[in-house]
Amino acid sequence: MKTVLVTGGAGFVGSHLCERLIKDGHTVLCLDNFHTGRKSNVAHLLGESRFELIRHDIIEPIRLEVEQIYNLACPASPEHYQANPIQTMKTSVLGTMNLLGLAKRTGARLLQASTSEVYGDPEVHPQPESYRGNVNPIGIRACYDEGKRAAETLCFDYNRFHEVDIKVIRIFNTYGPRMDPADGRVVSNFIVQALRGNDITMNGDGSQTRSFCYVTDLVQGMIDFMNSENHKGPVNLGNDGEFTVKQLADLVLELTGSKSRIVQKPMPLDDPTRRKPDLTLARTLIGYKPAVPLREGLEKTINYFKTLRDS
Ligand code: NAD
Ligand code: UDP
Repeated sequence: MKTVLVTGGAGFVGSHLCERLIKDGHTVLCLDNFHTGRKSNVAHLLGESRFELIRHDIIEPIRLEVEQIYNLACPASPEHYQANPIQTMKTSVLGTMNLLGLAKRTGARLLQASTSEVYGDPEVHPQPESYRGNVNPIGIRACYDEGKRAAETLCFDYNRFHEVDIKVIRIFNTYGPRMDPADGRVVSNFIVQALRGNDITMNGDGSQTRSFCYVTDLVQGMIDFMNSENHKGPVNLGNDGEFTVKQLADLVLELTGSKSRIVQKPMPLDDPTRRKPDLTLARTLIGYKPAVPLREGLEKTINYFKTLRDS
């Protein structure tokens, strides 16, 4: 059993990861500045003797004794990461540097949560890890995309220069319970709008595609890759089913039985047109196979938002 630091642990993905690590018998230090995360996401873990919650911003260094680090701290929704782009860039660059320093001092292995956004608006489909991407370095998404690219660079340089034990994963759109209803990402937006009977805000004509992964499938892949040997990554994790945003809207309307109308909004700048992971490497390295189909994952997520609404 290990002592594991999860930064961004009170966020959507982080809270599921903390929960799973506690279940597996580890001691978990959950660190968060509560920028987009919430204490309520981990409230059910606070009574566990092997769980600790630390309020801290990774932009500042921190001294802790740990054996593994999952670095998830960073707002993930375009709305949130664009609200304060300089803070977003600092989180990815200065924050990751601080955690790599912590890994160097303690000898801990660090897993960096990178993103499919490193591929930008991809010209290769589906995206394999070897594709170097098509990112606009001065656009409104760059604070996140370029920040995450720089964080990958830092991981590999700390590995080459200081032999820090690193793992890099590139996460594709993940959804599930504990997404913040005001998060702004497409799955939570559509479900919340449908349940409230509000208009479904579809950007553009909805023909852009995404591949949606249920959170427990991602967490399984993260833990398996963290504990695997012989490959530092980067490795894609997600689900390789591909859906248009319009298909997602229709499915949410069907599953909620909502009478909401779909209305078109202007397409945001630099919004990727197509996205789908090539999962060959993850399959080969860790036998990765996402198990939850979109319909089933959406049902679970809709139930979560219904419970939240009713409470
Ligand atoms: P989230 O916004 O719910 O979680 C991020 C967490 O990090 C929040 O709890 C937030 O308060 C915390 N945080 C932000 N800046 C911080 C800082 N400077 N110091 C300490 N804590 C800070 O988002 P999520 O979906 O759970 O994403 C988790 C990680 O996975 C992020 O790094 C994100 O970039 C990555 N990722 C997620 C997705 C996805 O679809 N969910 C896709 C690609 C990558
Ligand atoms: N989107 C949408 N309506 C919304 C929120 C998002 O049509 O209310 C679209 C967005 O323009 C993008 C896709 O859904 O094409 C996925 O957006 P999200 O913010 O979830 O993540 P992204 O993959 O763009 O980072």
